[in-house]
Amino acid sequence: MKIEHIEIFDVFCPDRPQWHPVFVRIHTNEGISGVGEAGLAYDWGHSAVANMINEIAKARIIGANPLQTELLWNKMYREGFWAFGGNAVFFAAMSAIDTALWDIKAKYLNVPLYQLLGGKVNTKLRTYASQLQFDWDSEARKLVEPTDYAKAAEKALKEGFDAVKVNPMFYDKNANTIYDLTKIVPHDLMKMIKGRMQAIRDAVGDSVDIFLECHSLLGATTAIQIGKEIAETYNCTFMEEPVNYLNSKLHDKISSKLNVPLAAGERLYFRHGMRPYFENQTIDILQPDIGLCGGITETKKVCDYADMYDIQIQAHVCGGPVATAVALHLESAITNFYIHEHHTYALKKWNRELCIQDYQPQNGFMVVPETPGIGIDLNDKIIIKSKVADINIE
Ligand code: MG
Repeated sequence: MKIEHIEIFDVFCPDRPQWHPVFVRIHTNEGISGVGEAGLAYDWGHSAVANMINEIAKARIIGANPLQTELLWNKMYREGFWAFGGNAVFFAAMSAIDTALWDIKAKYLNVPLYQLLGGKVNTKLRTYASQLQFDWDSEARKLVEPTDYAKAAEKALKEGFDAVKVNPMFYDKNANTIYDLTKIVPHDLMKMIKGRMQAIRDAVGDSVDIFLECHSLLGATTAIQIGKEIAETYNCTFMEEPVNYLNSKLHDKISSKLNVPLAAGERLYFRHGMRPYFENQTIDILQPDIGLCGGITETKKVCDYADMYDIQIQAHVCGGPVATAVALHLESAITNFYIHEHHTYALKKWNRELCIQDYQPQNGFMVVPETPGIGIDLNDKIIIKSKVADINIE
């Protein structure tokens, strides 16, 4: 089998211009095609990764045998110079291509992808409602008032979820994003954050899990402050991305001072990026993004490596429907699965319409697709106008 045609899509959503999933669709001479997604659907980098996929695909993927996933992964990794330095754009491009190759392989063998990852370990995936500060509804809103946070949590509970995640310090009282929380948190700001958390805890009761999202925006000192005054006080089940990843020693300090499990990993790449956090035991729940961490080939290895350190897995999922479907396969096939993330963006029409299939949780649980491959197809009616490249075999 040979790869003879590759399409790249840098998706533009008119109803949400800041949302731009990047997909690759790889076609073979045997009529089988596969799809993959790069993990840069939000903020900056989408056009860069679309171009990076184009360059890698032309250099190493077109004309290759798609079943040789390990070989092709290593060619992308070893022969492109920049992978050895570590960067999100390069790894996202590799991840998207690798995922599409696995889709092809599973279709060729006529099995759902999870069968190639060891078979089904988890028949149902417990799922949580993620990022309540953007509301839990068909439209995204910036929540400010504690009562709105309570209502968002109540909506999620009504749908059957028993776990929610929120960043209660993402917006200030004027709904502006707070990007810098590295200074000691002033009393009035802490009061605002506490008001939101108390409202959520009161709304959901004691037995629902609340995950505290921090988006790596805190400094080590404020992370300890927020960890004690928010995560510990409101009995959060984990605290996510307390600080950035550029200095792993920050995690050492925070984890030694807090009595709350730490979750992180969406901005770590390959086994190499995880290593200090594993060896120092400073991550309790790892959140690898399959569209960034190195695709299926590498993320499965990362999950197994994490298992050696008793680290649980929740794949980071904040992308298009391809990212969701791929995560379901991986999470179904690993023994250290913890919980599945359903982002509030996964509820939106402008995201759901990008693919033919639309996988949504039922009563707080997701199940893995059973069709051959990943079980996801791009909806050409919507995305074809966002095609940015066609690569053909010569
Ligand atoms: Mg996060």
